[in-house]
Amino acid sequence: MWLSASRKHQTKYLNSSLKINLVKKPNLLQKIHRPYSLPKLPPDRYYQELPDPELAGDGALVIIDDSDDFDSYVYRLSNVLYQGKTKFQNVLIGDTYNWGRILVLDGAIQSAEDDESLYHEMLVQPAMLAHPKPENVLIVGGGEGATLREVLVHGSVKSATMVDIDREVVELCRKHLVSWHRGAFDDSRVRLVYQDGRKFIEKNHERYDVVIIDIVDMLDNGPAQSLYTKQFYQMLRKRLSPRGIVVIQGLEFSFLDDKEHAALFRTLRTVFSEVHSYRTDIPSFLSSWGFLMASDWFQPHKWKPEQIDRVIKQRLGTEWLDHITGDFLKSTFSLCKETLFMLGLSGPILEDGVEFVLPPDIEDNESPTMKFPILPRKKT
Ligand code: SAM
Repeated sequence: MWLSASRKHQTKYLNSSLKINLVKKPNLLQKIHRPYSLPKLPPDRYYQELPDPELAGDGALVIIDDSDDFDSYVYRLSNVLYQGKTKFQNVLIGDTYNWGRILVLDGAIQSAEDDESLYHEMLVQPAMLAHPKPENVLIVGGGEGATLREVLVHGSVKSATMVDIDREVVELCRKHLVSWHRGAFDDSRVRLVYQDGRKFIEKNHERYDVVIIDIVDMLDNGPAQSLYTKQFYQMLRKRLSPRGIVVIQGLEFSFLDDKEHAALFRTLRTVFSEVHSYRTDIPSFLSSWGFLMASDWFQPHKWKPEQIDRVIKQRLGTEWLDHITGDFLKSTFSLCKETLFMLGLSGPILEDGVEFVLPPDIEDNESPTMKFPILPRKKT
């Protein structure tokens, strides 16, 4: 069986000069008869039998992500552990050949066994290491329990509250994703709350040192829509202790696909005085992934690699982290010239009740040919 063409996110950078006759959405979909039912997919994703059994294996199936107008990406599954629909989202947990076990919500891969440690270290540790003494931590989302795991390794943590809207997803992760949470849900410092993160922030008046937003992407009408807006961040800021820091999983982020990340960046800047993007490649997402740290005090460019290494050694020892070192972490805040340019552009922010429209692509005015070298040669 194959699953999902899912590049985790959508790129809409179309080359208008390409004229390809696309045969879109062949109507093979629900004709497939299988001994189990397949989870329903969002409108731009659909099932299709692979046409060539030689290539695909007998009865192979792909789920095609049709959110991009040209490309599709597939993960081949060797085993399906769970598929179904909770009150909030479609869930699939399966084993792939290349990435190990994966969790897929509403057709988008959330994390994969083989590289989840990179994603979760990058999401959690920069903010935890930056804070002088994180004691009370709030996680919004984080169903797999791996975000919780990365928080709990800090001995300074007295309480870790995890608020996830979907009890069923958390229970499925607890059962099938043991190497992600490694028992974190049973730690006595943990408080599990099954509630919409927005409602929790509206009603709960505790203060947190570190807040980690690990929710699903801002898919149209998805369950997390209201956790990406200016109004939400304004409330969240009031829940921070004086040296509080927020970190947010910042969607696909490269110089080719940055519009949603940039909108999030601009939105956070209307609320916090220090907002910083960092990024790394997450192999199983097939893309470069962004994260955003927001606070009123933390400036990562003043962080020295030796200082980071020292804090890691003091707080976590030398064995826990698989990926982060001082040098590596510093490098993830260095963005390429074009990314910095895109991030500096003005554009819409995310607000309650306002439909977000992606800004148009920027016209590239560069001439297709040029004279070399670009600067006159120096006389010797
Ligand atoms: N690593 C992921 C990513 O890159 O998208 C996020 C993973 S985590 C599984 C996402 C969690 O967000 C899910 O468990 C889901 O139930 C939760 N979630 C979605 N909407 C939410 C909301 N409004 N409040 C709290 N949790 C929410």
